[in-house]
Amino acid sequence: MHIAIIGAGISGLLCAFEFLEQGCHVSLYDQQHFGRAASWAGGGILSPMYPWRYPDAVNQLARHGKALYQHYNAQLLPQTAIDFEIEHSGMLIFDADDFAIGQAYAEKYQDPMQRCQHVQSEQLQRINPRLAATWQQALYFPALSNIRNPRVLQSLQAYVQQHPRAQVYPQHTIQQFKMRGQRIDAAITQHNEQIYADHFVLATGAWSAEWEQQLRCHIPVAPVQGQMLLFKTPAHWLPTMCMNDVMYLIPRRDGHIVCGSSVRHCGFDTRPDTHISAKIYAASIAMVPELAHFPIIKQWAGLRPGSPDGIPYIGAMPEIDNLWANFGHYRNGLCMGPAAARLLRQLLLAQQPFIDPSAYSTTRLHIDQQHIAS
Ligand SMILES: Cc1cc2nc3c(=O)[nH]c(=O)nc-3n(C[C@H](O)[C@H](O)[C@H](O)COP(=O)(O)OP(=O)(O)OC[C@H]3O[C@@H](n4cnc5c(N)ncnc54)[C@H](O)[C@@H]3O)c2cc1C
Repeated sequence: MHIAIIGAGISGLLCAFEFLEQGCHVSLYDQQHFGRAASWAGGGILSPMYPWRYPDAVNQLARHGKALYQHYNAQLLPQTAIDFEIEHSGMLIFDADDFAIGQAYAEKYQDPMQRCQHVQSEQLQRINPRLAATWQQALYFPALSNIRNPRVLQSLQAYVQQHPRAQVYPQHTIQQFKMRGQRIDAAITQHNEQIYADHFVLATGAWSAEWEQQLRCHIPVAPVQGQMLLFKTPAHWLPTMCMNDVMYLIPRRDGHIVCGSSVRHCGFDTRPDTHISAKIYAASIAMVPELAHFPIIKQWAGLRPGSPDGIPYIGAMPEIDNLWANFGHYRNGLCMGPAAARLLRQLLLAQQPFIDPSAYSTTRLHIDQQHIAS
């Protein structure tokens, strides 16, 4: 079976991995270089921030992220020599209003990753001695981890590129589909090349609504800009991730600290804004004042694929026999990515899905009724 995947962010690359591991042939297309959009720009926290603020459908996929990335890293590292750098740093949350609800959530769901404890003063300082003295209590999640997402993308790309059943096509924009009845016959690139496959997967992130007109359905996915700052400190300098008021610090193994983020609706604009940088900087220094002694070495903004409630669309697209969706992961596409790709693979190959797929169904996309009638 030959599957053409459109979009080589985390969603498309993980789908490619899943299908190749099942013996399929895969062609992977991206309008730019692989792994350069939201999936590169993101932070790599392997949990929704404040999971109790998200629907079950999001947490359901996210809770598999860490274990699956650990498994894939162990498999790919000998082949690609690129380590995902899964950091088991734990997370401290300082938002006092969330303490009780966070603990109640942990007790209710008994999810090992969301295990947490309320910590105070000296215990808190022992867990993270870099904190400002203003922080006297926090909710501590010792099992929360982060991945170095650019490395994950590089590793998956290397795996796909080396694979004998895969073909890769960076800088190929898929512009339209050539239909034959209810089936896609071919996908057509900007160079008018025709691509034939048995099945087509849209893993097109923030660009997914560009298919609305051609597919005659409403796709409520829109770009939501998020901005980041990168500090460089000595290796292993900051022991935990930190979060307050939806602003976070994510330490990497070599001392890079990724700080974000913002939420801005400005179309496909990826230029960082100086006011937002200043806000992220102030929030970072408020958590860890010594960061002010280290340089900011980079800043950027990425486009999250915003969708209603942040629940992705995973499964068969309506009205077309061989088109599949894996898009709309909004703020949690890195942690949901492995489980989302696995679910899509199981649905497409008619295998038993490992979780109930109904919450992700594309029946939530509104079809143009005239189209159905015609
Ligand atoms: C600042 C920021 C912080 C984040 N932090 C986290 C986090 O800590 N944890 C977490 O889980 N998530 C996080 N996210 C969210 C996460 O990054 C996204 O949900 C995820 O990367 C979406 O992956 P994707 O593959 O669907 O989209 P993308 O990575 O955007 O990939 C889509 C790809 O499709 C290609 N494409 C689109 N249309 C076409 C076409 N017609 N033809 C060919 N190619 C096409 C694009 O070029 C792009 O490469 C963050 C995002 C941002 C911006």
